[in-house]
Amino acid sequence: MKLIEGKPIADLVYEKCLQDIERLKAEGKQPGLAVVLIGDDPASKAYVGSKDKKCQELGLHSVKIEKPAEITQEELLSIIDDLNADDAIHGILVQMPLPKHLDSEEVIKRIDPAKDVDGLHPYNVAKLAMDDPTGFVPCTPGGCQRMLIESGIDVEGKHVVVVGRSLLVGKTLALLMMGKGEGGNATVTVAHSRTRNLPEVTQSADILVAAIGIPHFLGDEHVRDGSVVIDVGINRIDAPETAKGSRLVGDVDFDAVKDKCEAITPVPGGVGRMTIAMLMANTIRACEMREG
Ligand code: NAP
Repeated sequence: MKLIEGKPIADLVYEKCLQDIERLKAEGKQPGLAVVLIGDDPASKAYVGSKDKKCQELGLHSVKIEKPAEITQEELLSIIDDLNADDAIHGILVQMPLPKHLDSEEVIKRIDPAKDVDGLHPYNVAKLAMDDPTGFVPCTPGGCQRMLIESGIDVEGKHVVVVGRSLLVGKTLALLMMGKGEGGNATVTVAHSRTRNLPEVTQSADILVAAIGIPHFLGDEHVRDGSVVIDVGINRIDAPETAKGSRLVGDVDFDAVKDKCEAITPVPGGVGRMTIAMLMANTIRACEMREG
């Protein structure tokens, strides 16, 4: 079994980011990322903190906007309008989920598609569906695809089964896998909560991707001998034996399936490592693509 770890692959992405940043600097340009955080959810705060830290490390211009959960939709939209108009900002990310009274779809649609480095604006989703490489690909599915490419796992002609159909992960990864670009051309099946005979479907996968959000949901009965397993899930479970009292696990029961897989991603230390790296790469590309 080969362990596909996220860190060395994320480091490759960061190496390229540093080269691009140097080149842009010589042209008098500095990529800028704005991250908007609404409310005080601890997990979201931690994500935003990591993104900000990575920007500082790489030398990106970074703006962190934090507002209380009581913010109105109009106030949030006006923050987006200001960031759209700000020439120092090339990428805008609104940390999800937003408090329930806010309309996240309207917020995403308000972001200038040329600054939508999270790739969730309908314009960028459509470009992905149309095999137009000039759009932005959401960071987590983009990171999964990069992990497969860098690990030398060619998906062309293979059967990829994605369990989960969210736009953020499952549906987008399915589009990437069936797309005609590098790391694509797979035969793709998407499974979800209404899928019948899930073990039968997942057993037919050459490459099985789990993006469900249920700890250890996929076990021995779901995984075929010799398949590749990509576990996108990040779930916190109680672990009284640890100092923290909890630990992170994936959607796949790693210990139950690892010996039968050709390759598998761990959690933590797998796909999760890629998301911020792809965000940085998207922000740099947004800067490169801007005219003038
Ligand atoms: P989500 O929006 O809740 O979507 C979960 C998907 O799983 C849905 O499509 C759902 O089907 C499907 N599902 C739920 N129960 C199922 C069942 N019993 N059988 C088959 N399918 C089932 O979650 P998400 O945002 O895609 O995230 C998925 C996981 O990835 C989570 O653990 C999340 O923490 C993790 N994640 C990690 C990263 C990262 O690595 N940086 C980024 C994003 C997400 P229906 O559509 O039918 O409800």
